[in-house]
Amino acid sequence: MRKACFPGSFDPFTKGHEDIVRRGLTLFDEVVIAIGHNTSKQSLFDLNARVKHITSLFAGEKRVSVQTYSGLTTVFCEKTGCTHILRGLRDNKDFNYEQPIALMNRTMASIETVFLLPDPVLLAINSTIVREIYKSGGKIDAFVTNPAQLVN
Ligand code: ADP
Repeated sequence: MRKACFPGSFDPFTKGHEDIVRRGLTLFDEVVIAIGHNTSKQSLFDLNARVKHITSLFAGEKRVSVQTYSGLTTVFCEKTGCTHILRGLRDNKDFNYEQPIALMNRTMASIETVFLLPDPVLLAINSTIVREIYKSGGKIDAFVTNPAQLVN
């Protein structure tokens, strides 16, 4: 049984994230979407709303589950039986950020990180910019599936 953890803040969970999960399902039997939260990092969208939103997107897919965690991702993986971490790569900036974390996670817990590239049309989607659009009253449906679930 190959089980991967897809960690992130997912504030909000975008079509780019969705694409990475669907690609991950071709490699892993199960994908656990793990929403990391810590008290010092203020999010825009409520944690429970993010759980509800992501859960609704994968309602028909029994191999995907959604959990929240705080603290080390490697500890979360060990607790939940995930042997791999899944991350998306958009560009070299993502790679430069991700590489040392992946190597240190492997040293700490023997957990391999698998990087997947999204569909090129989704490459430019970025949660930070989506939040700015939302805060300014813009529509985010081009970037987030079913955004109504996030705010109701
Ligand atoms: P974090 O706060 O951990 O960076 P994010 O929620 O921003 O979490 O992103 C989680 C993962 O999804 C990261 O690996 C990030 O590189 C990846 N990701 C974000 N946006 C996209 C996208 N448009 N296409 C592919 N991967 C993406």
